[in-house]
Amino acid sequence: MCGIVCYVGRRQAKPILLDGLKQLEYRGYDSAGLAVADGQSVAYHRALGKIVELERKIGDIEINGTTGIAHTRWATHGEPSERNAHPHRDMDENVYVIHNGIIENFHILKRKLEKKGVRFRSETDTEVLAHLIAQNFEEDLEEAVRRTMGQVEGTFGLAVIHRKVPGRIVVARRGSPLILGLSKDGHFAASDVSAMVRHTNEVVHLQDNELATLTVEDFSISTAQAKHIERSIETVEWRAEDAELNGFPHFMLKEIFEQPETVENAMRGRLEPGEGVPKLGGIVPVWESLKECRHIVIVACGTSYYAGCVGMYVFEKLTEVDVEVELASEFRYRKLNFPANTFIIALSQSGETADTLAAIREAKRKGARLLGIVNVVGSSIARETEAGVYNHAGPEIGVASTKIFTSQLTILTLLALLLGRHQNLSLTEGVEAIRALQELPGQIRSVLAQANHIEAIAQKYYSANNWLFLGRKFNYPIAMEGALKLKEVSYIHAEGYAAGEMKHGPIALINPEMPTVALAPLDDMYEKMVSNIQEIKSRRGPVIAIATEGDERIKEMVDDVIEIPATLDYLNPILAVIPCQLLAYYCASFLNRDIDKPRNLAKSVTVE
Ligand code: GLU
Repeated sequence: MCGIVCYVGRRQAKPILLDGLKQLEYRGYDSAGLAVADGQSVAYHRALGKIVELERKIGDIEINGTTGIAHTRWATHGEPSERNAHPHRDMDENVYVIHNGIIENFHILKRKLEKKGVRFRSETDTEVLAHLIAQNFEEDLEEAVRRTMGQVEGTFGLAVIHRKVPGRIVVARRGSPLILGLSKDGHFAASDVSAMVRHTNEVVHLQDNELATLTVEDFSISTAQAKHIERSIETVEWRAEDAELNGFPHFMLKEIFEQPETVENAMRGRLEPGEGVPKLGGIVPVWESLKECRHIVIVACGTSYYAGCVGMYVFEKLTEVDVEVELASEFRYRKLNFPANTFIIALSQSGETADTLAAIREAKRKGARLLGIVNVVGSSIARETEAGVYNHAGPEIGVASTKIFTSQLTILTLLALLLGRHQNLSLTEGVEAIRALQELPGQIRSVLAQANHIEAIAQKYYSANNWLFLGRKFNYPIAMEGALKLKEVSYIHAEGYAAGEMKHGPIALINPEMPTVALAPLDDMYEKMVSNIQEIKSRRGPVIAIATEGDERIKEMVDDVIEIPATLDYLNPILAVIPCQLLAYYCASFLNRDIDKPRNLAKSVTVE
C-alpha cells in the first residue's frame, strides 16, 4: 500500500517529490513526509493527513537539495500521527528511511536495539530499519542495507538516504513493488509508475530480494548476495494525462466514464469475428496445456473476486471446464488438492496484491499452472505467472475499482470463449458472442447517458442507512459488487445477496426505509427475479430495478427503473454494474464523502 517516490538528479527534489506523492496518494493517505539532502544537511518534514497538509506545512519553506525520498503512509503498526509518519531516522539523524510493507520480526529487533541503548521515537515497525542500517553502516550504504535485509523478516519496498553519503539513494524490495525511472535529468524510484510518468516512460522493475543504488548519472542493481544484475529497460505506455482529472470532479467518475474505451481496449486486436474465436497472444506459451484443461481456479480479492465470480458463470456457460473462485486470502491457507493440469487465474489490477501473490506461489508449489489477468505491465503477478492477459486500461486512480472490473469481465469472457470454441461451442455461438462483445462499448455509452437519471435516483435514496442488492446467476456477483461499491465510497451499509436467498433471512430487513436494487435483465432468471421483487413490494420496500430496455412489465412493479440495452445473458453483468457504480458515486457525492480516497481504504493492497 502506501506510496514511495524518490529522486536524485540535477533538479530540485522538493517539487518533484510533492507532485509524485500526489499521484500516489490513492495508495495510502493517513500521513506523509519527505527528506531532502543537499550534500551537507537533510531537510526533514512530516505531516498527519493528506498530502495537502504536508504541502501546507512546507509549501513556503525553501528546501534546497537534489536528492530526496518521500512517502505517503497507510498505517499498519502505530496510529496515523506525525510521529509515526515516514521517513524514520536513526538516533544520530544520519539515516532516513521510507518503507512500504511490514517488518514481521520488529518486536524482537526493537527489544535488541533498545538493550543496546537505542531510543525509539515511533511505534512503527519501520523505525527498526533506520537503526539497523545506521548500525550496519561502515562506508557503503548499499552494503548496510544488504546486511539489514538479512536481519529482517516480512515485506518491504524501502528507500534510504544517508546524510554523509551525498547524491545517492539505495532502494530494496521484498514483496512490495519498486520501480526505477530513468531520465536525462536524473533517476527516480517509486512504488508505482504513476509517480514518475510526468518525467519519464523508461523504467526498470526491481525484483524481490534485489537492491539498487541510484545516483544522478547512474543506477546499478544487485541481489541480496551482492551479485550484480543487468536488467533491460522497459517503456511504459501510460501517459501523464491518464493520471489527470480532465474536468471530472473525481477519478471514480472519470474512470466510470472511461469504460467504453477500456472495454474496447480489452478487446482491441483480440477479436476474430469470422471465426468466432478471440486471439490472446499472451496465453500462447501455455495454450497446448490450457486447451486440455478441465479445472480452473480463479483467485482474487475484493472487486476482482466478484469479477472472478462472474467469470465462473461465464466459463460454465461457454466451456466444459469446471471453475471455482476463491478469495486469495483464504485460498492460500487451504489444503490444496488439484486435479492434474489445473490452471489458476490470478486477477489483480495492480499485479501486486499481496494475498493474491501469496496464493499463486502456494498453488505453484502444489503443481498448478498459473495465468494472470493484470493491468500493470511488468508487475509481480505478471512476472510470476507463466502467461496471461493485460487489461491495458490505463491507471486506475480511484480507490474503488470500476473500469478494471468491466475490463476483467471482458477478458474473462474472451478467455472462456477461446476455450469454449476449442471444446463444445459452435461457430454460430462464437460469431454471435463476438458480435455482442463488439456492441458493448456503444451500449455502455448508452447506460452512461442516463447518469442524470441515476443521480436523481441516488438523491431520492442516499439518506437510507441500509441497502440491499439482489441478483441471480450472472448478476449475483454484480449484486455483491454493487453493495461493495456503495459501502466503499458512501459508507452506507449494504448487502449483496443471491436473490433466491432473500427469503432465508434478509427479507426480515425489508421495510419502507430500505431500498433494494434488483438486477433483473431479461434472461432465464427474469421470472424468478420478478417474484422476488413482488415479495419486496408486498412488504412496502422501495425497489430500484436494473432492467432490459423496453421492459414495460417491470416498470409497473417497481419504484425506479434504470435501463440497460439488451445483450447476451452472460454479457449483462458488464452493463448492469455501471448503474451500480453510478448509484454508489452519486450517493457518496450527496453525502460529501471523500470519493477517491475513502476512509481506511487504499489502492493496491500490498500487505496481507
Ligand atoms: N508498516 C509501516 C507503517 O505502519 C509501513 C506502512 C505502509 O506501507 O505505509 O508505518
